Amino acid sequence: MAITKPKGTKDVYGDQAALWQYIEKTAREVAVVFGAQEIRTPTFERIELFRQSVGEATDIVQKEMYSFTDQGGREYVLRPEGTAGTVRAYLENSLYDLPMPAKLYYICPNFRAERPQEGRYREFYQFGAEYFGSYEASADAELISLAHLYLTRLGVENLTLHLNSIGDGECRKRYNDALLAFLRAKEENLCDLCRDRMGKNPMRVLDCKNPDCQEHLTDAPVPLDYISDEAREHFEQLQENLKILDISFVINKSIVRGLDYYTRTVFEFTSDDLGSQSTVCGGGRYDKLVEKNGGQPTGAVGFGMGMERLLIILRNQGKLPAIDKGIELFIGHMGDAGALKALEMANCLRKKGISVITDLGARGVKAQMKYANKAEAKFAAIIGDSELEKGRVTVKSMASGKETEIELDGLVSYFGNSQKAKGFT
Ligand code: ATP
Ligand code: MG
Repeated sequence: MAITKPKGTKDVYGDQAALWQYIEKTAREVAVVFGAQEIRTPTFERIELFRQSVGEATDIVQKEMYSFTDQGGREYVLRPEGTAGTVRAYLENSLYDLPMPAKLYYICPNFRAERPQEGRYREFYQFGAEYFGSYEASADAELISLAHLYLTRLGVENLTLHLNSIGDGECRKRYNDALLAFLRAKEENLCDLCRDRMGKNPMRVLDCKNPDCQEHLTDAPVPLDYISDEAREHFEQLQENLKILDISFVINKSIVRGLDYYTRTVFEFTSDDLGSQSTVCGGGRYDKLVEKNGGQPTGAVGFGMGMERLLIILRNQGKLPAIDKGIELFIGHMGDAGALKALEMANCLRKKGISVITDLGARGVKAQMKYANKAEAKFAAIIGDSELEKGRVTVKSMASGKETEIELDGLVSYFGNSQKAKGFT
């Protein structure tokens, strides 16, 4: 019986896999430019980590986690987001001993049990970056500029950066009180989930996807009207920094983000070329999260960028590069002696970093050339008895059909001295 892939997942292969390599390579290059280092954390973590970090009243924890109990009776979840695991790893490995701020980045899959649709999957990849050890608005600005430079390097256009500050500490309490009073007055119009969340974290009611609820939330108080003088100053410094960085933004008072750990700065990059899931990147500051996980008070800020959504934007904006399979040469053969020579030549060239394919199918010359063509080899050469006798071989350009005869023993230096070989042997 044929078995199909899980709902909301993808198989990636061929040109699509090459495009993934391209966006991942660019992400690594940009992260390095900022002095960030890669971190790889486990794909599954203890369930408590996300309950404690992301929050009990969030969509992620209440509805979207893939959880399982292992043979030892421990409860785990497939990582639904990258920040909590990074914070855990930061503490568990004493990464606070790194030069501060510690700048970490990752490219990894996340798992959420959501309704699959364009731009929304059950397994999706994020390029994320996290800065630990700075409370300064300059850290927020630099982190945003990392995401921005990445998107710019890929040629993405027409993005909007939405910026907001949702306060922290005392001002968050004042805001929560005001919001709760507002919600209480509307209680009978809200869904069961909202009524349940009100008491746990009133801000989470604002994330409700129910249009009936949303209709009653349009006049809800916004955090920006309640933030402290310090938080406001921080927000203004961030804006000043972004202006120097030449990164334009809009202030969007309604952005609160769907995770409980955010404090002060929150932001999203959106694109009209993405369809209904318009957010490609979301992030913000989370100054209390390290402490909550047992560490010292540590200012921190991070983002997560949805890589599938990024590919959708690049496709819709015509910004995907042409894929070169990179196969330089097909070495075919006729006869047993030719086959051995082809094997030897291919081996020499591969050691020099030249991409070579040969015939592994005992096919006739015509079928071999067809294969060379289909595999998009740039050149082809066939070695048979007469080539071995003369010590010369014909190299054919597959694009132009032009043929050049060269010394058989010169084949390796002919291709092996090309640009590509540089730095390989
Ligand atoms: P959304 O509002 O679209 O549900 P979110 O606020 O849940 O997104 P975050 O947890 O902040 O998203 O994740 C950051 C980014 O990861 C999103 O902006 C998006 O690009 C991507 N992302 C989140 N969930 C998914 C998903 N199910 N499928 C694909 N990409 C996703
Ligand atoms: Mg979501």
